[in-house]
Amino acid sequence: MSDELQLTHSEILQCTKCELHESRTKAVPGEGPHDARIMLIGEGPGQNEDEQGRPFVGAAGKFLTELLESIGLKRSDVFITNIVKCRPPNNRAPRKSEIDACNPYLQSQIRLIYPRIVCALGTPAITTLVGDEYSASRFHGKPLTKRGVTFLPMYHPAAALYDASLKATLFHDFQILKQLLEKEETLHPDAPKSVESSEKKQTLEKWV
Ligand code: URA
Ligand code: SF4
Repeated sequence: MSDELQLTHSEILQCTKCELHESRTKAVPGEGPHDARIMLIGEGPGQNEDEQGRPFVGAAGKFLTELLESIGLKRSDVFITNIVKCRPPNNRAPRKSEIDACNPYLQSQIRLIYPRIVCALGTPAITTLVGDEYSASRFHGKPLTKRGVTFLPMYHPAAALYDASLKATLFHDFQILKQLLEKEETLHPDAPKSVESSEKKQTLEKWV
């Protein structure tokens, strides 16, 4: 892991910037390769994640792994995190003040990892990443580019555990992710991930 990303993660583990720190067992910074081409961003840790300090390790995580495998990816190929790094009590939705307090960590992770594609899982992640006018129901599977980064809004995998009809939608949207990735690879054949053009970096820095 890059030193700066490591530092961000150590800060998260000790963070007291919002009230969620009071009830957490472990903060969950996220995990995956520091040069991942894909980032997946969920809403916040649940009980299992809070106990283990790792993202998406419960039932939703199991389904997420299945979705990744359906397009030939392993969990360890992608970087997985959440918009808030500490569990909201009783899995309530994170509050705007908590999301805002935590957002600098997320933006640092995006800047340091500099993925090709960011999947926003569920409406809270979608609005945080691309704007309040977006939602999972209206924009899932529709990629958009903001300041040089491609975002793909999706339903949250946990939503499909409550509404089985969303399973097929998620599998379909992962096919869109696969196509986007293939397109990226055609556009940038064997572009080394670690060498970023300073121009691209500047564009992103303006945004984060
Ligand atoms: N749901 C999320 O949004 N994030 C996790 O890490 C686990 C479940
Ligand atoms: Fe800090 Fe984020 Fe945890 Fe709040 S949720 S205490 S801002 S790491």
